[in-house]
Amino acid sequence: MKRPRRNFGITAHVDAGKTTVTEQVLHLAGAIRRPGSVDAGNTVTDHLPEERARGITITAAATHARWRRGGVEYDLNLIDTPGHVDFTVEVERSMRVLDGAVAVFDASQGVEPQSEAVWRQADRYGVPRLVFVNKMDKVGADFAMVLADLRAKLGAVPVPVQWPLLEGGEFVGVADLLELRAAGFDGREQPLPEAARRARERLLETLAERDEGVLEAYLGGGSPAPDRLRRALRAATLRRELFPVLCGSALRGYGIAALLDAVADYLPAPEDLPLPAAIPPGATSALAFKVTTDRHGGLTFVRVYSGCLEAGSYLWNATLGVRERAHQLVKLQADRELAVQRLEAGDIGAVRGLRHTLTGHTLTREGDPPHRLEAIQVPEPVLTLALEAPTAAEQERVVLTLQRFAREDPTLRLAAHPETGELTLAGMGELHLEVWLERLRRESGVTVRASAPRVSYRTTVRGPVTLAHTLKKQTGGSGQYAGVVLEVAPLPRGAGFAFEERVAGGAVPRAFIPAVRTGVEQALTVAAEHPLTDLRVALVGGQSHPEDSSDLAFRAAAHEALCRAVGQAGVWVLEPVMRVEVTAPEAFLGAVLGDLSRRRGVVEGLEARGPVRQVTALVPLEALFGYAGDLRSLSQGRASFSMRPAHYALKP
Ligand code: GDP
Repeated sequence: MKRPRRNFGITAHVDAGKTTVTEQVLHLAGAIRRPGSVDAGNTVTDHLPEERARGITITAAATHARWRRGGVEYDLNLIDTPGHVDFTVEVERSMRVLDGAVAVFDASQGVEPQSEAVWRQADRYGVPRLVFVNKMDKVGADFAMVLADLRAKLGAVPVPVQWPLLEGGEFVGVADLLELRAAGFDGREQPLPEAARRARERLLETLAERDEGVLEAYLGGGSPAPDRLRRALRAATLRRELFPVLCGSALRGYGIAALLDAVADYLPAPEDLPLPAAIPPGATSALAFKVTTDRHGGLTFVRVYSGCLEAGSYLWNATLGVRERAHQLVKLQADRELAVQRLEAGDIGAVRGLRHTLTGHTLTREGDPPHRLEAIQVPEPVLTLALEAPTAAEQERVVLTLQRFAREDPTLRLAAHPETGELTLAGMGELHLEVWLERLRRESGVTVRASAPRVSYRTTVRGPVTLAHTLKKQTGGSGQYAGVVLEVAPLPRGAGFAFEERVAGGAVPRAFIPAVRTGVEQALTVAAEHPLTDLRVALVGGQSHPEDSSDLAFRAAAHEALCRAVGQAGVWVLEPVMRVEVTAPEAFLGAVLGDLSRRRGVVEGLEARGPVRQVTALVPLEALFGYAGDLRSLSQGRASFSMRPAHYALKP
């Protein structure tokens, strides 16, 4: 019989203790021998030196581990999630493949603006969550304060399933509110404190409101069995109505076993969630969500949704329309690798040997009905810098290294100017580019010089155009033939790119449509001076030939057709606009707002959070250089901010 599975991530903002919790979890679940220490810089999930130096997590590796709960062994896949807003594609990819999450908060800080941003992200993806209140050993730790924050700032209904035992302000043990038992970390039983009894009472009321069985037991004056309570809480957690809350100290290793039990008890199994709508019955379907390279070559992380992948078999990349051989299937256990024969529906693992597959591509088996899972939304990079190497040979090494990086991180764009040959690298923010530059210098061994980052602009079409284009080539043996009719139209700001297929009567056989889409997507970056966005391209007609038509021919025809259509339509230049969230004490509100308006900022929202004000504004990125320093001086260091790309707007 197959073991029950839990695919989950640990989300937190930088410094709440995500890395330390992860280490402890992997240690207890047997994936590593001894927990690494962040402070000593030898942890397992943060395997890149920059991350250790900065204490932030960038990559989203999936780690496999096992956990035994109540005589049942669980297969765990821990998906690493980033804590920094600059690395948005990492957030997107991990949220897409995990089924549930553990949200870690710092017990002395409560819900900070950054942890709020991370929580909202999980809301957007509909991810059921547990809360782990970490750092209970710290001076100023306050479990009840965090619960109040979860309610007030996040609008969540937290349900503590534990209560901390304190002695002279020190964290000495935990009470289990379901089993009604309290024990110190020294193993000794303790009486249940009054606060824990009250919390237990509220837990019963909350569950009785949602569960008939609990209600009956509660009204009858009896004490519902712990299993009954767990079932009710699990159901409400999966519906995202309730969020079970636990507490502990990852640094001391307290509360981690109970956290793993809670992952088994309350987070969803793959079977609990609906399948993506795009999957036709009977098809094998997997999403590639991360591509990395290591000393053994390329590694493509996949989440299998239906059917099964088999080691040594051929796969069909439905996004590109190419065949790929899956030489080996593996599950990664921290620093070890486990070869497996099959990856089945609900599994997360990695494939060795794929040569063309990138993040967001759909993998199926040859002959499966064609379909594409929703692609991973890759935000457009907003900053570009120019790179220079001392010699031509070194420049080449830099390009090869960057090409490898760009396969790993789709928000990284590499380009060479067609005339000057100037090499540019675009990314999501100053920190994002800095991290990759450091890695570039180390892995290429080249002392690369980088310019200051500049804003990356985009273009969009000025008006609608319909264009027919036929590619005909007769070179030696077989010819190439593909005809497409594309309808190109501008979309509202922020809409990004949309592709539609409206071909009547099979003028373009269904099997070639993914190739048309790929050709169009590839042309988006080269059809105008700056990459295109905010437009819809519809395939509305075309022609094919029984022998000479191929994926390649349709890809090329679509590419050429889009370039011509854009030439006919003409373009507008767009600039990136950021959504900026500033948190400042009331006294500085006027100064913050005045400064934002001088930067062409448009205020979207203003909220009071106790004594502080939170301003949300849309501001052109051009006007944000040096913002961190300016904000600090106008608020005497009391204000903080975060920003992320919002959309592109017409450049005045
Ligand atoms: P991340 O940025 O969320 O991955 O957080 P880290 O795991 O890197 O932890 C940030 C800092 O908090 C490090 O210095 C940790 O040693 C410390 N830390 C983590 N967990 C605890 C805890 O339970 N108690 C205390 N006192 N410190 C902790």
